[in-house]
Amino acid sequence: MPEKISRLRQLFGPAGIDAFYITNPENRYYLSGFTGSTGALLVTREQSYMLTDFRYTAQAAMESPGYQVIEVSGTYAAVLFRLLKENCLFRLGLEGDHQTCNQYFNLSKVRAGVEIKPLSDQVEQLRMLKDESEIGLIEKAVSIADLSFAQILPLIKPGVTEQEIALQLEYTMRRMGADGPAFKIIVASGVRSALPHGVASAKTIAVGDLVTFDFGAVYQGYHSDITRTVVINSSNLRQKEIYKIVLEAQMNAIAAVKAGVCASDVDWAARSIIEKKGYGECFGHSTGHGLGLGIHENPSLAAKNDTILEPGMVVTIEPGIYIRNWGGVRIEDTVVVEDNGCRILTKTPKEKLLVL
Ligand code: ZN
Ligand code: ZN
Repeated sequence: MPEKISRLRQLFGPAGIDAFYITNPENRYYLSGFTGSTGALLVTREQSYMLTDFRYTAQAAMESPGYQVIEVSGTYAAVLFRLLKENCLFRLGLEGDHQTCNQYFNLSKVRAGVEIKPLSDQVEQLRMLKDESEIGLIEKAVSIADLSFAQILPLIKPGVTEQEIALQLEYTMRRMGADGPAFKIIVASGVRSALPHGVASAKTIAVGDLVTFDFGAVYQGYHSDITRTVVINSSNLRQKEIYKIVLEAQMNAIAAVKAGVCASDVDWAARSIIEKKGYGECFGHSTGHGLGLGIHENPSLAAKNDTILEPGMVVTIEPGIYIRNWGGVRIEDTVVVEDNGCRILTKTPKEKLLVL
């Protein structure tokens, strides 16, 4: 934690602030380890304060040893500006994307000469680079998703609803130690597989359906994210052909991942293959995204993102082809960027379209 705080303080100079008020729950957890639902951090060059209410003061003291815990009984704004005044600090950074209009208005009312600077993506930029322990937790979340999928495969058969499979998948992940699912589980069968985010519905699975599963586990706050597409009973030529193109695009993008490469180049490595085969219009989302304490983090592997990949970034690679009124295929793995390539964390096989 001290390492993360010192990286945060290095941002103060360039951002023109003397103190940073952290209110995004993921960022709060990242910088303090505090798991309660209410609280805010005030980090100055010298001090780290945890502001929370009576329900959480004992927990905060236990979970966040480097922080001075301050009990808030009135408004957070009053405590915040009292602390700034005591420390003679007049330039405060806020997480602009995580303050409501009302919160900002309330802060502005009592700021008494303090300059308030709404900032974006500051802690999120720090979170892009994962340390060994964070990578270990993501790896565990990935492995829970892999093992759970293997366990529920026998349930995937004609007549079963998408919702029933999603329920069993969630149950299995939790049995294996997950805090919960990373997001609402996607089980999209038949023509629904053309929906990139087809959350499990009451539709029953039928013979010949492509079925796309996109899901993940959360383990100690860290997320995994995997997509596999299977087919029921037997596959036809077109299904096999589309699967082959998506797989080639996905493997080409994985081969492109290494430190020093631009995020947009990884996107192009997947997109160029799909475009060349004539399905460019059927791949309307970006190739991947970072993940960690959030399911979608920086860097986005998008056509217009010029972030340079660095060792310790963890990203998904997930191209897809979606054809309206026919179906779709997506394949998604999670990888860790390394100096000379990447390490694939996802172990579920994908080499050919699995017939169940
Ligand atoms: Zn996914
Ligand atoms: Zn994803």
